[in-house]
Amino acid sequence: MKILVINSGSSSIKYQLINMDNKEVLSAGLVERIGESESYIRHQRFFKDQESRSKEEKLHIKDHRSGLEQVNLLLQDSEVGAITNPDEIEVVGHRVVHGGDMFNAAVNVDDDVKEKIKALIPLAPLHNPANLEGILVAEKVFAKAQQVVVFDTAYHQSMPPHAFRFAIPERFYTEDKLRVYGMHGTSHQYVARQAARYLGNAFSQFNAISIHLGNGCSMTAIKNGKSIDTSMGLSPLPGLMMGTRSGDIDPTVLFYMGTKLQMSFEEIDNVLNKQSGLKGIAGDNDMRHIVERYQNNEADAQLALEMYTYRIKKFIGSYLAILGPLDAIIFTAGVGENSSLVREMACADLEHLGIKVDEKKNNQRSREIQSIAHEDSSIALLVVPTNEELSIAEQAYELANR
Ligand code: AMP
Repeated sequence: MKILVINSGSSSIKYQLINMDNKEVLSAGLVERIGESESYIRHQRFFKDQESRSKEEKLHIKDHRSGLEQVNLLLQDSEVGAITNPDEIEVVGHRVVHGGDMFNAAVNVDDDVKEKIKALIPLAPLHNPANLEGILVAEKVFAKAQQVVVFDTAYHQSMPPHAFRFAIPERFYTEDKLRVYGMHGTSHQYVARQAARYLGNAFSQFNAISIHLGNGCSMTAIKNGKSIDTSMGLSPLPGLMMGTRSGDIDPTVLFYMGTKLQMSFEEIDNVLNKQSGLKGIAGDNDMRHIVERYQNNEADAQLALEMYTYRIKKFIGSYLAILGPLDAIIFTAGVGENSSLVREMACADLEHLGIKVDEKKNNQRSREIQSIAHEDSSIALLVVPTNEELSIAEQAYELANR
């Protein structure tokens, strides 16, 4: 069975075509700058025993429908195609950011599901409209395929009320559904399952802290395979310091910006979501540049990395307190998988908690799951490559076969 996984953004569509018979990625690509005068598509075709082939095009793509139609053509292209007929795609799996408290697992798309994704737009105004648009156009372009949605919030629906409620008057929860939902659920669940398998533990008894460090960053406390707390909240803004997001901040800063500095909500939103984090402190949200500048003793990069890893360490401490004995700490995503310096700094001086990184192992690079724990570490420390697309495809496959 071939499954097309789609991640539809406001002006982009990311996709992967996966053959679920052997979990092989047949094609992957990205349509960018949809709606602009010059849009861009990069499409790759992967082969088991040959070099991959790719095709890049610059053309005007007026909307998501035209974008997905171009993808459909590339999937059938004589040079870089992987299928001969669109009907070969039996399932399309969609990433949807916010499922609120309405979804705790993947579901088949129907009118009710689409209405609910729409009703959740106030909770995810940047993401849910684009995600819904991806579903609507896929229903037209791949009309014969089963459409499945996988929610980024679903894995965190197991959190107890004492973790997900805000300490504000109840009506904001009952009437407006303001609470912690958490994000990156697909990634946290995927890497935790991989880690449990690697260690030979049953997932239903697996206790871990999962640390997803990409451009967005979040941590999850996992008890018996379930999320019991997570660092993001109603939105992807709180918690850790991120590429361009502030993470946790005293809300009084917002009042100050609004009243004293006369900034609008839109301006404050822009500062906290797009101008803060690594970018706010060191002027750059690419961790590779920050690490390089840290090593050149540049003061702003040093402060940025110290702040970034200090936050991670504080969350490790608080999650250890609520979880008790732990099987593993897992690092994943762009920074977590690639930056040995970030892992080393986040785990430094935690020997008293049973956490000790082996310097040599930490500096080895691998595409596979890798242990970076020193032999004296009582907690397993793992680097686990995340694969949100495969996880979405697996969940869609399971639903399609049910
Ligand atoms: P993601 O959102 O998972 O794609 O991760 C994006 C982030 O990973 C960016 O901030 C990149 O700078 C970072 N990243 C990718 N490769 C490396 C690397 N070798 N060292 C440090 N950070 C990296």
